[in-house]
Amino acid sequence: MQATDFLRSPRELDFSLGQTERAMTAFVDEDGSQPLANVYSLQDASCDRFNETTTESQRAPRAAFWRYANYVAKRAKADQQVIGASVTQLKPLQHGWQVHLSDGCRFSTRVVLLATGLTPHLYIPRPWHVWWQHLPQEQAHHAFQLDYANGDFKDANIAILGSSNVATWEAAIKLAEAGAKVTLLSRYSNPIERQLPFAPFWFQKEFIQSFSQLSWRERKRSLKKPRIPASAMPGMAARAKAIGVRVLHHARVQYATELWGKVQLSYKTTKGMQAERFDHLVATTGASPKLRNLPYLTDAARNYKAPIIVSGIARHYPILDDAGRWKNLPPIYPLGVHALTRAGHAANTLASATLYLPLLMRTILQDAGLTDATDVSTA
Ligand SMILES: Cc1cc2nc3c(=O)[nH]c(=O)nc-3n(C[C@H](O)[C@H](O)[C@H](O)COP(=O)(O)OP(=O)(O)OC[C@H]3O[C@@H](n4cnc5c(N)ncnc54)[C@H](O)[C@@H]3O)c2cc1C
Repeated sequence: MQATDFLRSPRELDFSLGQTERAMTAFVDEDGSQPLANVYSLQDASCDRFNETTTESQRAPRAAFWRYANYVAKRAKADQQVIGASVTQLKPLQHGWQVHLSDGCRFSTRVVLLATGLTPHLYIPRPWHVWWQHLPQEQAHHAFQLDYANGDFKDANIAILGSSNVATWEAAIKLAEAGAKVTLLSRYSNPIERQLPFAPFWFQKEFIQSFSQLSWRERKRSLKKPRIPASAMPGMAARAKAIGVRVLHHARVQYATELWGKVQLSYKTTKGMQAERFDHLVATTGASPKLRNLPYLTDAARNYKAPIIVSGIARHYPILDDAGRWKNLPPIYPLGVHALTRAGHAANTLASATLYLPLLMRTILQDAGLTDATDVSTA
């Protein structure tokens, strides 16, 4: 989300957890201002004409939201036990896990809550695999990993390969602002611009609660119906055009190869096949979260025969049990994007942290045998 200027989060996605003084709208910034005071509500967003009438003052600036989240963490003292290192390996122990870190340290724990987000699961379309892997790493990027602030993109000729999702337009705008000459190739005829990517009921506590009580099969069935629409924030296409981004609609990427220090991209438009050379390609093709793609858990899953497949003949067997614990392993509870089948589309948004987690944390801790549920309180 590093390139996002504004979030799509309505005011209900705050971290108040029952305490009004911690609400997003009450947040007072360091300079005494209240940058989140007017953020729109779910009810506002459900109005058909919301996209046309909403103004910037009703949106949540990402930087202000970040400062607000840090303020809440500090207030709850959640910032006091943070280790600044990546997990490289999770090894099952008889009663828990041994956690290996990138700085060489290790420690043991009885329970793991897995909230590693989308970045370990970057998605490149399967037909691209044959050529994408042969492109020089410094010229072929995935949008979720790109460092817009520190890269040298001035005057670079950059192609953004995407559909029409939020990252496509964000990457185009950020790179153009960094001085690059940007071409955006989109398969769609027009950008789809929506304030909320899902129907508002996916952000409501009561709905998430009743959804998570359905059987696994019923949840999977209803998740198949509302697909996540490829959509960007309102006004992004206009911002991209105003800053000089060249947009090619109906453009289908076919092939790319290194040529004389650049990358030659072949793509198909309504005018037929085209070939063009760029300094960089940026894929904004999203992520495809799968538990089996976590390198630090591969050995554990294999050695303990923990289920990792949800398609084919095993599709009727969920990986997680009713408490959200990964079957056949010591206590490990995948959250965030991996909780899609438990919390529905709420798990794909900040609603996961603000609405879904408080609902389920009690059950998780009880299931893990960590505490009597009556002892559990939310910070
Ligand atoms: C471009 C974009 C725009 C979005 N806009 C919005 C929006 O406007 N509103 C909204 O509600 N949601 C938005 N979302 C979704 C929102 O970002 C996610 O729902 C939310 O961040 C998920 O939180 P999370 O804690 O599950 O994962 P993340 O926020 O991704 O956090 C995962 C963390 O785990 C860390 N990690 C990964 N691997 C390891 C490892 N091996 N060891 C240690 N740490 C690790 C990562 O570094 C990261 O800090 C957007 C997402 C994207 C990609």
